[in-house]
Amino acid sequence: MSSALPSYAEAAAMVAACARELGPQAVSERIELEHALGRVLAASLGTDCDQPPFPRSTRDGFACRAAEANTHKQLKVAGAIHAGQPPAGPLPPQSAWEIMTGAAVPEGADAVAMIEHVERTFDAIRLLRPRTLESGENIVPQGAEARAGDQVLAAGTRMGPQHIAQAAACGHAVVEVSRRPRVAILTTGDELVPVAATPSAGQIRNSNGVMLASLVDGAGGDPWILPTAADNERALDDALRKAITADMLLISGGVSAGKFDLVEPALAKLGARFHFNGVRIQPGKPLVFGELIHSSKTKKIFGLPGNPISSAATFLLFGSRILGALAGHANPGPRFALAQLVKDVKGKSDLTRFVPSWCNFDPMAGELPEVNAVPSQGSGDLASFSHSNCFLVVPEGTDRLKAGSTVRILLI
Ligand code: AMP
Ligand code: MG
Repeated sequence: MSSALPSYAEAAAMVAACARELGPQAVSERIELEHALGRVLAASLGTDCDQPPFPRSTRDGFACRAAEANTHKQLKVAGAIHAGQPPAGPLPPQSAWEIMTGAAVPEGADAVAMIEHVERTFDAIRLLRPRTLESGENIVPQGAEARAGDQVLAAGTRMGPQHIAQAAACGHAVVEVSRRPRVAILTTGDELVPVAATPSAGQIRNSNGVMLASLVDGAGGDPWILPTAADNERALDDALRKAITADMLLISGGVSAGKFDLVEPALAKLGARFHFNGVRIQPGKPLVFGELIHSSKTKKIFGLPGNPISSAATFLLFGSRILGALAGHANPGPRFALAQLVKDVKGKSDLTRFVPSWCNFDPMAGELPEVNAVPSQGSGDLASFSHSNCFLVVPEGTDRLKAGSTVRILLI
C-alpha cells in the first residue's frame, strides 16, 4: 500500500536526521592545497596576516588626498609605485603618487584617482571636472577583508576554487581534511555484463556501477566498485559481507517486488535495520534505506532500484546527504534551484515525480532559467537521461505543472 510509505519530504527528513547524527569521520589527513578541490576541511583555517596586508589600490591611477584633488588644482607627481614594491611615502602636500592596481597606497594618501579621470602634464596631474573623489575611494584598507588571526574558512567547508584561493592567500600550502568516506558500490543482476563486454541475448551492460562511482566521487566519497553479484542468496550474502567493510553501501537492483529481488532479505539476514522500505517518489519508489553494525560501526545502506535513472535520482536525493555528512560537509546535498517551466508536465496524486529535464542556464533570457522535461521511455532510458542536466520536481498531489510557472529543479 503506497500510502503506508513515507512521502518524499518525510523520507528526506528521516535521512537528514540520520545525517545529523552521523557527523564526520574521526580520521583526517593533511594534503597539499593543490589537491584539496572537493575535500572537506577537518579544521578551520585562519589567516597569518591582514587581508589585504597593506592598503591596496584597486585602480591604475594616482594616489592623493581627496580634499586636495577636489580643488581641481595641479598636484605634483611625487613618484610611481608598482605592485610588489614596499609602501612609499609619506605623500608631500599638493602631490600625488602614480600607482598601479594592487600596489600599496603611500602613507598620507586617502584616495586613488583613476587614470582616465585625470589630465596629465609633464610632472603633474589635475582631476578633471566634474569628477570629485571621496576619501577612501579605490582603496581597500589594510585588514578590511580579514585581520591577522581571524578564522577565514570554517571546518566543514567543502573546498571549491574560491576556498582554495582564500586558503592560499592566508598561507596554507597544506590543509587538514576529512578522509573521503569509502563507499561500496554493489551492482546486482543476472543480466549484467561488464562495460567492455558485448551483451548476449537478454543481457545488458552494467552502467550503474560507473555512474554511481561518478556520483559518489562528485559528492566527496571514495568509490569502491565491487564485482556484480548474481541474483541468488549465496552470491548476495558473499558480496554484502565484503561490501560492509566500507563506510557506506550502495546496492543497485534487486529491491523491487520481483521474484529475484533478494537484497532486502539478504540484508535482513545479516541483521540490518531498515529506516524505510519504499518512498512515494517516481522514479525510485522501491528505495530501501537501512543500516548494519559492523566492527562496532554503523554502516548506512541504500538499496537503490536498478533502473539507471531511479538509481541516479535516489542517490542524489538521499545518498548524497548521508555521504556528505560522513565526509564532514557542513552543507551536504541535494542541491535544488528554481526555474521557469516551458511546457506543462503531469503530476501524480500519490507520488512526487522527479522528471529528467534540461534547464537552459545560458543564456538566461528571463529572470529564471527555463526548464523543459526531456521526452523519455521511462526510468531505463539512458539516451534521454544523457540529454538532461536536472530533475524537475513535481510535488505529490499536483495534477499538472503549468507552462510559465516557477518550479523546483534538482541539480545533477
Ligand atoms: P531491478 O531493480 O533489479 O529490478 O532492475 C530494474 C531494471 O534496471 C532492470 O531493467 C535491470 O536490468 C536494470 N538494471 C539493474 N541493474 C542495472 C545496472 N547495474 N546497470 C544498468 N541497468 C541495470
Ligand atoms: Mg535485478
